[in-house]
Amino acid sequence: MELLLDGKKLAESMQSELASKVAARIATGKGPPGLATVLVGDDPASHVYVRNKRRTCEKLGMVSTHYELPGTTSQKELLELVERLNTDPAVHGILVQLPLPKQIEETAVIRAINPRKDVDAFHPYNVGLLTAGHPWFKPCTPAGVIELLLRYGIDPEGQDVVIVGRSNIVGKPLALLLAQKWPGGNATVTIAHTKTKNLAAHTLRADIVIAAAGQARCITADMVRPGSVVVDVGMNKDKDGKLVGDVDFESVAPIARAISPVPGGVGPMTITMLMVNTLAAAELT
Ligand code: NAP
Repeated sequence: MELLLDGKKLAESMQSELASKVAARIATGKGPPGLATVLVGDDPASHVYVRNKRRTCEKLGMVSTHYELPGTTSQKELLELVERLNTDPAVHGILVQLPLPKQIEETAVIRAINPRKDVDAFHPYNVGLLTAGHPWFKPCTPAGVIELLLRYGIDPEGQDVVIVGRSNIVGKPLALLLAQKWPGGNATVTIAHTKTKNLAAHTLRADIVIAAAGQARCITADMVRPGSVVVDVGMNKDKDGKLVGDVDFESVAPIARAISPVPGGVGPMTITMLMVNTLAAAELT
């Protein structure tokens, strides 16, 4: 491996750039960007994600307000909170941490968020703007992947990119971002999923493989062309409870030209792009 795509290091430098932008905004007399996070229930992973997002927010000089609701919360109660946040002028971004308990329909909650405050960019209005090529916000994990590539000098333009996974959160919006006619786009994109015949035939011809399948170490060395770039979005627990990616790092790293680790790759970039979006949301008002 020639290049480790170190998302932790990159996130730190991007966050110090962002902190300066926040300070410059405040110096003009405008209020600090405000992010409201909403957590329903007691999923341990969600608690960790939200805590990290809140800490980063405060580190950058933004205001973090947090709402923790019991797992028995009804959809109506959650929608009422979202409506309050929609009209609160100190709240620029609203993040409802997924997954939600079974009694709450996620799409109903996503649609209830004011699109101008939808810093996750999951609202159909924002998906539409992204599809049309002029988004207010880019979805955090896909945007983080592209930023990681670009800032390490890897331009997707003209490259064959294979994305493993087609979720609304990662695979699909990432394919859209990469296929757009803009900087960081212009790639030739293939989306693979569980119905793909012979996944390895696709990944083996890719210049860039992006793994977002949610299957621990499912991308192995025999599936990757020597000299290619491999980005690992996966965050899975292995049988010993260790956090591992979708890529078998030990076997793939020696043959890849560049590879992102887990942890310390896409994860810190996702949080950083959320901060980018929160500042952008504040600037929209
Ligand atoms: P998801 O909703 O479970 O989607 C997984 C996708 O991968 C599906 O489209 C599925 O295909 C496909 N897939 C699963 N196994 C496959 C296989 N063996 N071969 C080919 N395709 C396969 O997951 P997600 O929300 O997109 O997340 C994916 C991973 O990224 C998870 O590990 C998640 O924890 C991680 N993640 C990380 C970050 C971060 O910040 N680093 C952010 C979000 C997610 P079908 O559609 O056919 O079922």
